[in-house]
Amino acid sequence: MSRYVYDFQDGSRDLSALLGGKGANLAEMTRLGLPVPPGFTVTTDACRAFLATGEEPEGMSAEVSRHLSALEAATGRLLGQPDDPLLVSVRSGARFSMPGMMETVLDIGLNDASVLGLAKVSGSERFAWDSYRRLVQMYGSTVMGVDPARFDVVMNRLKEARAARDDLRLDAGDLAGLVEAYKRLILDETGRYFPQSPAQQLQRAVLAVFRSWNAERARLYRRRERIPDDLGTAVTVQRMVFGNLGPDSGSGVAFTRDPATGRPGLYGDYLSNAQGEDVVSGVRDAVPLAELERLDPRAYRRLRDHARTLERHYRDLCDIEFTIERGTLWMLQTRVGKRTAGAAFAIAAELVEEGLITADEGLARVGGDGLARLMFPRFDTTAAGTPLTRGVPASPGAAVGAAVFDSAEAVRRAASGERVVLVREETTPDDLPGMVAAQAVLTGRGGKTSHAAVVARGMGKVCVCGARDITVDAGARRFTTRAGTVVDEGTVVSVDGSSGDVYAGAVPLAASATMRYLETGEQRGSEVASVARALEHADAVRRLEVRANADTPEDAARARRFGARGIGLCRTEHMFLGERRRLVEDMILAPSGAARERALAALLPLQRRDFAGILEAMDTLPVTIRLLDPPLHEFLPDRTDLAVRVAAAQAAGDPAAPRDTALLAAVNRMHEANPMLGLRGVRLGLVVPGLVAMQVRAVAEAVVERVRAGGSPHAEIMVPLVGAVEELRLAREEVRRVLAEVSEETGVPVECPVGTMIELPRAALTAGRIAAEAEFFSFGTNDLTQTTWGFSRDDVEAAFFPAYLDKGVFAASPFETLDREGVGRLVRIAVEEGRAARPGLQTGVCGEHGGDPASIRFFHAVGVDYVSCSPFRVPVARLEAGRAALDGVDTGDTR
Ligand code: PEP
Ligand code: MG
Repeated sequence: MSRYVYDFQDGSRDLSALLGGKGANLAEMTRLGLPVPPGFTVTTDACRAFLATGEEPEGMSAEVSRHLSALEAATGRLLGQPDDPLLVSVRSGARFSMPGMMETVLDIGLNDASVLGLAKVSGSERFAWDSYRRLVQMYGSTVMGVDPARFDVVMNRLKEARAARDDLRLDAGDLAGLVEAYKRLILDETGRYFPQSPAQQLQRAVLAVFRSWNAERARLYRRRERIPDDLGTAVTVQRMVFGNLGPDSGSGVAFTRDPATGRPGLYGDYLSNAQGEDVVSGVRDAVPLAELERLDPRAYRRLRDHARTLERHYRDLCDIEFTIERGTLWMLQTRVGKRTAGAAFAIAAELVEEGLITADEGLARVGGDGLARLMFPRFDTTAAGTPLTRGVPASPGAAVGAAVFDSAEAVRRAASGERVVLVREETTPDDLPGMVAAQAVLTGRGGKTSHAAVVARGMGKVCVCGARDITVDAGARRFTTRAGTVVDEGTVVSVDGSSGDVYAGAVPLAASATMRYLETGEQRGSEVASVARALEHADAVRRLEVRANADTPEDAARARRFGARGIGLCRTEHMFLGERRRLVEDMILAPSGAARERALAALLPLQRRDFAGILEAMDTLPVTIRLLDPPLHEFLPDRTDLAVRVAAAQAAGDPAAPRDTALLAAVNRMHEANPMLGLRGVRLGLVVPGLVAMQVRAVAEAVVERVRAGGSPHAEIMVPLVGAVEELRLAREEVRRVLAEVSEETGVPVECPVGTMIELPRAALTAGRIAAEAEFFSFGTNDLTQTTWGFSRDDVEAAFFPAYLDKGVFAASPFETLDREGVGRLVRIAVEEGRAARPGLQTGVCGEHGGDPASIRFFHAVGVDYVSCSPFRVPVARLEAGRAALDGVDTGDTR
């Protein structure tokens, strides 16, 4: 029989798939002997079964009752007992943290009778009614489906009537009235009464939390964080402890280190006389934890000791939720905490230094996405002027955008390509779509641990919160600073998530320290030093080599500074654009072989110069030069423009310029309905006489030039879009012929390996045969993705990928992260069959996936030799290649 409920004493952190992160960590803290209120966890298995059938799985409610009885026995009180009620919290807790995305109901067990008992035993009527109104509100919205804003309206009306700045000013009578008003609201909205039966409250709350797994915002969050949809959430049921029992009580959130910078030391927010969610929702302004040290030194010291215990035990930064009930500290939650990219590097380096984790573990805890974030520019503050306002620097980075005042507007404007900054008084989980769409988030209330801050940090989104001197008027779509400056919707602002400053207008950006280090090797500051440590270790452990995709000497030189060991793809088509286009037109229009040769001869010295520059920048390292690939018509003028020009000339009685007429005829002749699958790649080389020869001669002569200049050039020639070995054989014969010719003419032996791209399914499936003619393979995973899926590269991403991502057809665009099942399988087949036919065959990847973390892990696992990516991604690829080499990271499974 399945088991659906675990007491905290029976679980452990290893059971997070079953108990969720919260349940597993509560169990772990219980085992560590930390002060955790007793309770139990209903498993994710139960949730999945419930979501699949709409019914509680058999046996679950009996198990819940049994564990509840044990809890009642342990606490000596019954749930909702009228004279002295046991109250419980019901909280969601998925395997992966989804802060604020699902539901929680506190104070279960209160009703019209037990609220009086609670008032008596606690000695505080106000406290009892405050707890009851919280239950009715949370239950009403979460379980009974009343819009939470309706409760706020009632509350705000009361506050206004009492001229109360916050809820602390309301007395027991006010709160009792509020309970009645809330109950009436529920009845009006739903036609049903708020249930008085504690058992019913508990049972329905558990199911409502299960259901909240599928709430819109939770789904969106999962899609964004790539959390699978089928995990389900666990539910913890725990004895309530109360932070709202008076000034010697309170609730707080703590981090064992500063999650923004990684600096050691207890860090967080505390709110006295408050319960649970008050701290993170920002309804009142929390104070820094240092203040708790003053208010209650004994509880503070305990908290600090427990934080230390947790950090040593988890060997990582932990975040903690705690409550102080009349001077007694209770631990309500812990988990390995989210942190900024900079803090991740700093903490990893420090824990390695402290000997708490190994260098391998340190590397596993940082990532390429974080590194990329540190490479982003930051504001040039010398040019920034005076800030409009300053808030809490909650998630670092610099962003510029037009201020918008609600989530929907952010989404709307972002969809049309505008950069926006979402400005809110405080964010709620429903603001998530707007946060995703915005460049930055700015709030008037809340601290570093507010919902806005936690979510933004997780997304790597710039965030400044708690900018207290602005007044946000979402209705009028503007905010006003204390100095009286009005910022209307659409006004551009600049948000600095590292300093907390917000500026009017677009502030210029300055390069990051990490970028400077990568460019110059200069290690200034601890963040940069920790990035350097991680990259050094990655370089030491990785097997995958990293090259760059670069077409100019400047890009090649930058890539080399960033650590690229060669060029994996030099696209030659970029060299034919600009002023040289005319020469290409001449080549195409050539009426005779002799004219074409003249055109090619004019291109030759230009190409030679390109190659010599790149070979020089990458001296001693391999440079893979790809023969011309794109459809030829891309080099010709736009067909419509040309036709209009010719027609206009004719209408005016002018005979059109002969060149235009000839060009139009050529353009019409070469027009293709789907040029991506037309006369491209090797096909072009085989049908346009002299083209391959010219390009190869330019490479060979550049090699000779470099050798004569004392260099050590290593050019490799790569044939694109090969589908059949015959194509490669023909191309290779031509290449070899020209190489021999140039060697002969110059007396300098030019030996360039000749290889092919594998970017068509047919090439992958016949890799064994192709390897007979190929000295290396380079996977063009852009085209391989296009042709495996039948997705036109230029069309599909904008046309319907958003819908596909929405519907869960795939979790990430296959043009960003390699589709293992399909494209990955072809890669694996080609590597294996290519190597079987030609032992030691060198294989690389030069599609965009070469710079994508998840894809890199796969390429490592299937035994590819190198990845090649844009110069700016090179450090990311180095880091990820190192992480891929750590034990057990990825098996390259394609199922
Ligand atoms: C590829 O197809 O993956 C590739 C690198 O070539 P291109 O993007 O130039 O088609
Ligand atoms: Mg390609």
